[in-house]
Amino acid sequence: MTELLRNHLCGRWVAGTGDGTTLRDPISGAALVRVSGQGVDLASAVAYARDVGGAALRALGYGPRAAMLGSIAKALTANRDAYFEIATANSGTTRADSAMDIDGAIYTVSQYARWGAALGEARALSDGSRARLGKDGSFQSQHVLVPTRGVALLINAFNFPAWGLWEKAAPALLSGVPVLVKPATATAWLAHRMVADVLGAGVLPDGALSIVCGTSAGLLDPLQPFDRVSFTGSGATAAQIRAHRAITERSVPVNVEADSLNAALLLPQEDAGSPAFGLLVREVVREMTVKSGQKCTAIRRVLVPERLYDAAAGAVAAQLAPVAVGNPRNEEVRMGALVSRAQLESVTAGVARLRAETDVIHDGGAHRLVDADPSIAACVGPTLLGARQPDRATLAHDIEVFGPVCTLMPYRDLDHAFALVRRGGGSLVTSLYGSDPGALAAAALELADTHGRVHVVSPAVAESQTGHGNVMPQSLHGGPGRAGGGEELGGLRALTFYHRRAAVQAEAAVLDRIGAMPSIG
Ligand code: NAP
Repeated sequence: MTELLRNHLCGRWVAGTGDGTTLRDPISGAALVRVSGQGVDLASAVAYARDVGGAALRALGYGPRAAMLGSIAKALTANRDAYFEIATANSGTTRADSAMDIDGAIYTVSQYARWGAALGEARALSDGSRARLGKDGSFQSQHVLVPTRGVALLINAFNFPAWGLWEKAAPALLSGVPVLVKPATATAWLAHRMVADVLGAGVLPDGALSIVCGTSAGLLDPLQPFDRVSFTGSGATAAQIRAHRAITERSVPVNVEADSLNAALLLPQEDAGSPAFGLLVREVVREMTVKSGQKCTAIRRVLVPERLYDAAAGAVAAQLAPVAVGNPRNEEVRMGALVSRAQLESVTAGVARLRAETDVIHDGGAHRLVDADPSIAACVGPTLLGARQPDRATLAHDIEVFGPVCTLMPYRDLDHAFALVRRGGGSLVTSLYGSDPGALAAAALELADTHGRVHVVSPAVAESQTGHGNVMPQSLHGGPGRAGGGEELGGLRALTFYHRRAAVQAEAAVLDRIGAMPSIG
């Protein structure tokens, strides 16, 4: 039998009971390691993290905690090669796709270390300036943000085992809040290894970082009002979490990052020969193929003016055709595997549903796999579908096929395009392609209400833009409505979720003694 990875709870490594779940290589099907969270004492683990880890972290200011983040980034960097091996084996990703997860994680932790250092020795933050309450101005109010005295339960999706962990853990730890990590079972190995390396480096106080793998049973049961839940995953699991008593009865704040029908929109002023058209085509192909389309931010719907529909269909299909799909260990391969055969079945079933209302422009099934057995490997080529009558389509605006699948749609005018984009019901990101700054600015503001991020690509930033699907810590990540309604990242503003906002009303002399606090507004 393969190694059983242990959980780190109450400051020590503990094995779950039973055989656990076997993690597999999605190319060969080989068993890699096992995980089990069965039989562990979650109530004690949460209490230990809250009482021991939380107290130790809160005893420090933001600056010393930022230094810890810097040490975490160093510990991760020192073991980077091992992470790439695990990612290839367990996620079936190419080196470039693994880098997005692994280097993205290290970059995000390092960025929070830099931002946190600027907060110095402060123990609390101010939110806005003082307001006078009484007639003579002697009685005043100041809003403060103080770290919550709870634990942050971080539940992650399978597609970003590294970045998903650290983009949540960095703001939590910097805030002084201990974390309990629950990685998605299918790819838990990488998250587990990273946690083990950071614990091994001894850079965090006891109880500040815990991990449980392999089960979500009873995970939320021990949570108390001052704890936090930060969840990334499907809308269906989010709904279950929101219905849990910890949320409904004990008011535990929950941040949800869920699925999303993100769009890309070419503005009507462009034509098939324009640079903006080429940039849209390049980005759509990139988004469909990076991580085999397993990105919450991936482009799922592409909107072009009616007269450019055929040209766009031809241009995207032409760039998809040569994409080599298969074993990421083969240097020819540009697109690796889906995470599992179960995910492959889900993608195949999703495409079959979408085909009922769309045409197939480029069939992913036509790709021959490189160095991979199609009866074993969880690989599939990229599929571009077309909905010539997008108003009549329902599924294309509704089901997220979590793989290399995207639907092209024509629009009549800009109002029609905006209406189609909004049928996603709230998304993480829409990207706009055009060359007229005025038209791009107007469209960005028009769509900002239904998105967490509007990514504007014009020829002037063709090489410097950071990518439709890339989540940068400087910008907000999350989206309204169907996308979950959450907000993560966006600089130090991410710390607010791990703080409690309160008003202190007092004479000015008392507020003076609270001292100067940095603001993260
Ligand atoms: P998922 O099935 O919803 O699982 C997400 C996490 O929730 C996993 O760790 C899972 O554990 C855990 N979980 C399952 N049931 C639970 C319960 N009742 N209580 C608490 N936790 C529970 O999602 P996934 O298949 O891993 O990820 C794919 C989805 O995530 C896609 O829909 C994608 O769009 C979305 N996603 C969103 C973002 C974003 O930032 N918005 C980022 C990445 C992915 P197990 O693995 O042990 O079942």
